[in-house]
Amino acid sequence: MDAQQCDVAILGGGLSGCLAALALYHKRSDLDVRIVEAGLKFGGNHIWSFFDSDIADENRWLIEPLIHHSWDGYDVIFPEYLRTLDARYNSITSQRLDAVMRKRLPQPALLTGCTIASATSSQVTLENGETIAAKGVIDTRGNGNLDTLDCGWQKFMGQQLRLAKPHGLKRPVVMDAAVEQVDGYRFVYCLPFGPNDVFIEDTYYSETPDLDTQMLATRISAYAAGRGWDVVSVERSETGVLPVVTGGNFEKYWASSGPDMAKAGARAGLFHPLTSYSLPDAVRFAAYIADQDDVSGKALAAVSHDYAKRQWKRAGYYRLLTKMLFHAAEPERRYIILQRFYTLPEKLIKRFYAGRSSMLDRLRVLAGKPPVRISRAIAALLKR
Ligand SMILES: Cc1cc2nc3c(=O)[nH]c(=O)nc-3n(C[C@H](O)[C@H](O)[C@H](O)COP(=O)(O)OP(=O)(O)OC[C@H]3O[C@@H](n4cnc5c(N)ncnc54)[C@H](O)[C@@H]3O)c2cc1C
Repeated sequence: MDAQQCDVAILGGGLSGCLAALALYHKRSDLDVRIVEAGLKFGGNHIWSFFDSDIADENRWLIEPLIHHSWDGYDVIFPEYLRTLDARYNSITSQRLDAVMRKRLPQPALLTGCTIASATSSQVTLENGETIAAKGVIDTRGNGNLDTLDCGWQKFMGQQLRLAKPHGLKRPVVMDAAVEQVDGYRFVYCLPFGPNDVFIEDTYYSETPDLDTQMLATRISAYAAGRGWDVVSVERSETGVLPVVTGGNFEKYWASSGPDMAKAGARAGLFHPLTSYSLPDAVRFAAYIADQDDVSGKALAAVSHDYAKRQWKRAGYYRLLTKMLFHAAEPERRYIILQRFYTLPEKLIKRFYAGRSSMLDRLRVLAGKPPVRISRAIAALLKR
């Protein structure tokens, strides 16, 4: 088959691949970019959410067109504490991401329904035998080998429900942890999309990655019933088993998906260790990569490796907190750590989710009367 040629080939059309493609197309219209996705649409089946404060003002242009819904403020609910916070909260849907990709990028750039069989830093071979020669390749095909990291898991199912009557929610409930604590830290998350439409996600932190979807569906209907919501239909659903990282070896993780390949997104380890959320990092990295002059495979690999390594070092503090969450408190008492965190100043909370905690924030999160026994906290930190 004929070889295609381009300047930059992006492998994987999920969140980070699409953001990189949009940023490159916007900032480097001189480049011929291709994005290769196995699915028929870009972005899979997700709702991605983020706080306004996760995104620097200078990168806002990249994310703005993708926003499907925004709310002023959000609630958190704990057994002994309730709070409404001011931060603006936004959601992006896969459908919207796919639509923006098709609107913004020229059709020849978009290769959907194309499974990649193998790739090097300058060549991509598809399962159908076709090849793409590129000056540079960026691999964004999801996680590398998670065995190289020390992980717990954040597991969830979300369902978009149509209700018989209005739910009455004014804003999202980003954490309702006043629910029964099972397995590990558990909370329910609600996004009110319309008067009778609500997205409910049942999430829990766990030491194992197995997912019982039937049990989660039952818990979601019980939660809706408990709030007096009469469910007419389940419009869509999504599930996730995301790594939450307590330690590991960055270089081994990087090498596990090809040491010489440029990478982005989860494949580059660019996600928050405690929440596993990758959107803030994906936006920052897309804007950064689009500012590079040299887009050869070698240069992109070096730049992305250095960027991800710096980010891994910065995230050490969040890995430590994740370790404490998993090992310093009994599973049914883990909510106390988050409950205390949410009593802290809102600016600190914003910086925490953006992965941008200051030194003072770091001390403040750990200072005061500890929500867990000191001896257990120290044992957790020493645990390898
Ligand atoms: C259901 C769900 C909800 C989430 N919600 C949030 C959220 O609200 N906020 C947040 O920040 N994070 C969220 N996350 C976590 C994280 O941000 C996402 O997982 C994010 O999609 C990761 O982006 P990525 O580009 O690294 O990988 P992905 O988005 O998974 O993209 C990888 C892409 O590569 C493609 N691919 C893989 N192999 C091949 C191949 N051989 N050939 C061609 N294509 C291939 C896949 O089809 C996929 O489209 C969520 C995760 C899930 C699963």
